[in-house]
Amino acid sequence: MAVNIFKKGLTIRWKIVLIYCTLVFVAIAIIGVFIMGSLERYYINSVRANLTNTVQGGILISLSNYADLSSNSAEIQSNIDSAWARTIQEELFVIDSGMRAVASNMDNREGTAIESLDMEIVMKALVSGEIAESSDTISGQDASIPIMNLVFPVRHAGAVTGALYIRADMTGIHDTIDQSKQIFINAMLLALAITSIMGFVISKTITGPIQEVTQEAARMAKGDFSQEVSVKSGDEIGQLAWMFNELRVQLSNTLLQISGEKSKLETILRYMADGLVAVDVSGRIIHANQTAMRIMNVEAEDLENKLYDEIIRDLKEDLVFDELAEKCEGGVAAETFSAGGSTYAVRYDRFKDENGKDIGIIMIIQDITERQKMEDMQTDFVANVSHELKTPLTTIKSYTETLLDSPIQDDETAKSFLAIIDSETDRMNRLVKDLLHLSRLDHKQEKWFKKEINLISLLKACVKIIEFSAKTENRHLNCIFNPEDEIRAVVDKDGIEQVILNILSNAIKYTKSGGRIDIDAFTNNKTAHIVITDNGIGIPESAISRVFERFFRVDKARSRGMGGTGLGLAISKQIVEEHGGSIELQSREGRGTKVTVLLPAAPTRGRRGIE
Ligand code: ADP
Repeated sequence: MAVNIFKKGLTIRWKIVLIYCTLVFVAIAIIGVFIMGSLERYYINSVRANLTNTVQGGILISLSNYADLSSNSAEIQSNIDSAWARTIQEELFVIDSGMRAVASNMDNREGTAIESLDMEIVMKALVSGEIAESSDTISGQDASIPIMNLVFPVRHAGAVTGALYIRADMTGIHDTIDQSKQIFINAMLLALAITSIMGFVISKTITGPIQEVTQEAARMAKGDFSQEVSVKSGDEIGQLAWMFNELRVQLSNTLLQISGEKSKLETILRYMADGLVAVDVSGRIIHANQTAMRIMNVEAEDLENKLYDEIIRDLKEDLVFDELAEKCEGGVAAETFSAGGSTYAVRYDRFKDENGKDIGIIMIIQDITERQKMEDMQTDFVANVSHELKTPLTTIKSYTETLLDSPIQDDETAKSFLAIIDSETDRMNRLVKDLLHLSRLDHKQEKWFKKEINLISLLKACVKIIEFSAKTENRHLNCIFNPEDEIRAVVDKDGIEQVILNILSNAIKYTKSGGRIDIDAFTNNKTAHIVITDNGIGIPESAISRVFERFFRVDKARSRGMGGTGLGLAISKQIVEEHGGSIELQSREGRGTKVTVLLPAAPTRGRRGIE
């Protein structure tokens, strides 16, 4: 499960709203400052212009008639009171060149009123002869009052004789500007509110598709690739959505491919005949397939709870991780070991990550028990054949040498020597014949001429063939089967005859003189049973399982003395199996042996046409 590493912060939506509002605020503020400044300047200029026009058109002309203002103060004051006070609403002071207030429309012109005048600009106007101006505030009854001071120089015959000081109350103008500012602020707040709402709505068109892509990405992270992001525009966000859909399809296909490969690999590993174990550098088993678990004798949970070394030690001490790592330093290493009655071949090598760093060891364990057995059998077979041939050859060689070396023997001795040579040659002949027969069976080269026959008839024929030697050897053949019965089977007559004769001759060979051999045949569950039981020497329990092996003989000397090759039962077994049947042997030492041949029976039909 992926952890969200992102801190909760402003969403893009709110960021867009904030940016919009900031831009609008900055724009309106700049415009506001600019307009307010212009407005203020406009009002002040118009006040100044009005006052200047008024003053220059009347009062200043009148005052310029006086050569000395202070000496005409009474007349000037009366002018102010009578006429000028009507044209000028502002505070008005006439100041002489000694900077004394000569006349005023204010009551106490020589007291507090004159003290509050800005004498600096008076001086400036008197000295420069230019209009001087200043802004200030004076304290009123409730609050301070903004004022504008204007000083006009008064000239008489070109010389500055005094000044006209006008103090204009600017409260009205300031109120107007304040109101304008308030209107501006209200307009700005409204604009910001509308901008916020619009920003919120507009930002949705940007953030909506991004949110959709984000949600889809979250779903993809959980493994759901089913949903598609809707592409609503061709802009960058639309392209992002389109690319995202492409990515989704590609990723989904790639993941499908990977999981397909993974399950294929898992299936191969699960069902592969060889064991596979992968161990990481910390000694933990990363993977072990079922064959490997069976070989190591562990359950799936053991793989998680135990280290590789703990598990493998029970199997083979040499296969611990460190030893393997050391042995495969130079590349793939291999060895064999035996455990639990099986032989295994192990091949192992280190495996690395993409940077070439060792990440563990991978090993393949192959069960080579059967192969080993086959190899052993082959070696034994060659040894056995050599031994079987060596004995008669040695005998033949020694008798021929005797015949050749010694002076002419009498006829009887020479004949007996030749008889021995003849019988040894026969034995070798039989042996070679049996070996060739086995070889043909092994290589599936034996030609079978299978046809439906009556096994009872075949048994009767076999008994007839063996009867003479049985009688000679003093063995009694006891046919239990009903000679009139019929047991039908599709078989190669010669092959099955060889099997029956072989079992019968074994029964005769390994039964003492006067012994009895019971021969029975019947059908049970669509299977033909041919049962040959003797009361002979029997087979020790430990040897019973081996009597079908090639060259196995319980008593080698006895078998050889009887002319046996040790291949009879092996050949018989193979012939019966070629017919889809089986052969069973039960025996008790000293009591006798029972051999049963089982063959698939064909359905019984009328006796006509049956051999
Ligand atoms: P052989 O040519 O030696 O008889 P077989 O393959 O026919 O070889 O039999 C293998 C061995 O099985 C014999 O050597 C013998 O020891 C034992 N055997 C086979 N049949 C009997 C039997 N009926 N009674 C006792 N031992 C038998």
